[in-house]
Amino acid sequence: MQYDLIPAEKSFAEFRLLAETIPQLVWISWSDGSIEYVNQRWHKYVGAPPGSCYRENRLKYYHEDDRKEIQRCWQDAQQNGQAYETEGRIRSGKTGEYRWFLERAVPQFNTQGQIMRWFGTCTDIDEKKRAGEALRQSRDEFRSLVEALPQLVWIMSTSGREEYVNQRWFDYTHATANDIRGEGWLSLLHPDDQRGTQHLWREALRTRQPYEARYRLRNAQTETYEWFLGRAVPLFNDEGEVVKWFGTSTNINQEKQREEALRTSMDEFRLLAEMIPQLVWVDNPDGSGDFANQRWYEYFDMTEDQRDNWLSVYHPDDRPKIEALWNTSLLTTRPHEAEARLRNGKTGEYRWFLIRGVPLLNEYGRVIKWFGTCTDIHEKKRKEETMHISNQRFKKLFASDFIGIAISDLQGNCRDANEAFLRLVGYTREDLLAGKIHWRKLAANEKIYETDRASLQRLRAVGYAPPGERELVRKDGSRLWFFLGSVMLDRSEDTTITFALDIQQRKEFDQRKDDFIGIAGHELKTPLAGLKLLSQYIRRKLKKGALVDADKYLAQMGTEVDNLARLVNDFLDVSRIQAGRLIYRDELFDFDALVQEVVEGVQQTSPTHTISLQGTSGQQYRGDRYRIGEVLANLLGNAIKYSPLAQNVEVSIQKCPDNIAVSVRDFGVGIAKEEQTRIFERFYRVSARKNRGTTGLGMGLYISGEIIKHYNGEIRIESTEGEGATFTMVLPEQREEPSL
Ligand code: ADP
Repeated sequence: MQYDLIPAEKSFAEFRLLAETIPQLVWISWSDGSIEYVNQRWHKYVGAPPGSCYRENRLKYYHEDDRKEIQRCWQDAQQNGQAYETEGRIRSGKTGEYRWFLERAVPQFNTQGQIMRWFGTCTDIDEKKRAGEALRQSRDEFRSLVEALPQLVWIMSTSGREEYVNQRWFDYTHATANDIRGEGWLSLLHPDDQRGTQHLWREALRTRQPYEARYRLRNAQTETYEWFLGRAVPLFNDEGEVVKWFGTSTNINQEKQREEALRTSMDEFRLLAEMIPQLVWVDNPDGSGDFANQRWYEYFDMTEDQRDNWLSVYHPDDRPKIEALWNTSLLTTRPHEAEARLRNGKTGEYRWFLIRGVPLLNEYGRVIKWFGTCTDIHEKKRKEETMHISNQRFKKLFASDFIGIAISDLQGNCRDANEAFLRLVGYTREDLLAGKIHWRKLAANEKIYETDRASLQRLRAVGYAPPGERELVRKDGSRLWFFLGSVMLDRSEDTTITFALDIQQRKEFDQRKDDFIGIAGHELKTPLAGLKLLSQYIRRKLKKGALVDADKYLAQMGTEVDNLARLVNDFLDVSRIQAGRLIYRDELFDFDALVQEVVEGVQQTSPTHTISLQGTSGQQYRGDRYRIGEVLANLLGNAIKYSPLAQNVEVSIQKCPDNIAVSVRDFGVGIAKEEQTRIFERFYRVSARKNRGTTGLGMGLYISGEIIKHYNGEIRIESTEGEGATFTMVLPEQREEPSL
């Protein structure tokens, strides 16, 4: 730049005048840099009294840090003889603060072309400078931020001039800001992704809306493509025009791969889900449906939209349980399992299913999906139920008191038994636990045990042993008859179960019946023999014509016939009672008269004893007079028969509020306590030894007992063995029914 010479001093004065009017600090220095002139504004700003700056070095008013640079600029200009421009901070005399000034100076030359003076101005640029500083600082910060970001960052200006990419972008793509200009960046994308991304980018430019796209970006180093999520937002100026686009590309390759892997595994899962026999479902973390296999839809007969209504497929009774379970699972993200009934949408039938739900968690433990299956366990459940019922039944049976049950192994060790069995064989539970019950010991003898073993073999082969009667030896050595049957309970464990019924009484009864036939033969034979003898005797006498006391013999024959008739009647009565066909001919009769009659009748045929009668009832009784009389006669007959050494039998009638009782007391052999109920059994007789050889068929008390029972009465016994017995026949008083 070339400046003309400053004209004469006059012009200098004009210049000074001008210098006072402009808003800058104005100065003139000599060529050595010392101040020749400064305007008022200068004096005011630096806080120096007017005229005080003359010949001073101007640099002293500048900030220490800036002096060097200003000095350098000035010296350069001094050498080149050119105007210069520089910046520096000048201290305000008032505030002591430094403000930025733009210093501009032009040289004045003398006629020899040497610099005479410098004319300079200092323009206050502090505001501007500070704003620029702040801008630069924020730009720096922005840059460092952008560089620190894990993303690839790029800025694209609409002017096409201020493109910028961060280091990370460059490192990845090896493309510069220049390369990406316009749509240059598209070439860095995977060929398959270019068109789609271009379309999205153009749309963003057109609509001035934020842009987002997913594409594969080429890694310049590995020469592979990785997935990125590209995002850009427009920056508007005050006029509302887009000036720049700020963009980032975030590497989402891992997510993408994971997504891909998940999708593949989901595809595989779905395939698998269609193959398995269960109903399969997949739910989102919030419990909404995501997938269900074909079988699921078919069973519930539902469409996809109806899926959210899943609770309705459960049996109403199971719903609260399932809902609670599912809610807890959602809360705790723990798997769940339950058995519940699910409704078949087609038939409406409910079937039992095992429901299982398992969460798939991400690395932070958050649920990604819920996977579930419903397995049909209806048949199993039903079997279990039946099993349960039969178990219950078996337990009931086992606990029953009347049938003995023992569980044994094939070696004959009894491992378990119910109370009934233990009672029957006379062992205790402790004996059982100590392994003391063995079928060898229970068998009456070795031969029987061997037979039992043979039947055990059979048990093993066919699963059961035919039931049969067995006499077993109890712990105390006594023997009892049992009806035994065994089945194999568990073949794998060789366990058998044996049922034992006590048939001792039946056995004894059979024996009694056998005995009875023998005795009955005798009993019948005796009167028959008597009749035969008498008839032969009478015939012989008739032949000789010497039958003098025919009456007597005929009477004897009559007695024998009566005996026979009584026996035969008893037989018939027993069989009628058995068949429930004993006929009663009820009538109203005088009770006391009947007793009297019977006592007298028996007394006539029993001269050995004296029968006394006491008391009256004063009652009319409705019943079969003959049968009730028969009972009394039987009791009297027994009293006499079983007290051969005594002379007296006492009969008494008592009238109680509710009944009439007749007691027959004898002073004979008496009856042991344990026999007292048994003597009412059919054909039961106390052993002949105790009965001192008396004969009988054991029918009398049986028939008597049945007759009295017919009238709702009973026969009581009081007796001490050897001291006689009192039989009391008790008949409940009858409520008089109104006669028709
Ligand atoms: P039977 O006398 O024909 O044997 P019962 O049925 O009349 O048949 O009697 C049954 C058993 O009861 C008798 O065998 C006898 O042992 C016993 N018995 C009955 N009455 C008496 C009694 N008064 N004193 C002792 N024992 C009696």
